[in-house]
Amino acid sequence: MTRIAVFPGSFDPITLGHMHIIKAGLTVFDRIIIAIGQNSNKQGYFPLEQRIHWLEAIYADESRVSIQSYTGLTVDFCRTQQAHFILRGLRSAADFEYESVIAQTNRTLNADVETVFILTDPQYAHISSTIVKEVHRHGGDISKLVPGQIIDSIK
Ligand code: ADP
Repeated sequence: MTRIAVFPGSFDPITLGHMHIIKAGLTVFDRIIIAIGQNSNKQGYFPLEQRIHWLEAIYADESRVSIQSYTGLTVDFCRTQQAHFILRGLRSAADFEYESVIAQTNRTLNADVETVFILTDPQYAHISSTIVKEVHRHGGDISKLVPGQIIDSIK
């Protein structure tokens, strides 16, 4: 059985923290689908097309990683992709509290999909897309928080 995992999130924008989780995830899964959840009530800070474009550029040479956007329930998206795993990253106990509620709910919605957590490397534990957006909004330097492709493209 091919082990396919969906890594769902906003990726607004992708950070070095996300990339660490994807790299570690590739040691466990055969394929990872980075899935950008679209929320009609919530516009992103960076446009969806831009976020997809960055992800495609970053993973252009990694055939085991693909990029998609989706609407609706993550477990329903998993079903359409024949993915039996949801990959999520953990930075802290607060992340665990939040993530465990979502994972338990997803299990009740679809028992065929298992959520797998990977702990972040401590050097990335303080990084979130929210912090990146805040620093960027105020003209600060985000080069230690996001991949170089993003820095090059927003220069
Ligand atoms: P969401 O809006 O669903 O939280 P994000 O794009 O912010 O989407 O995050 C997607 C996933 O990546 C989540 O599991 C989140 O915990 C994880 N993540 C975000 N930042 C980091 C980080 N610095 N280290 C490890 N995991 C992270």
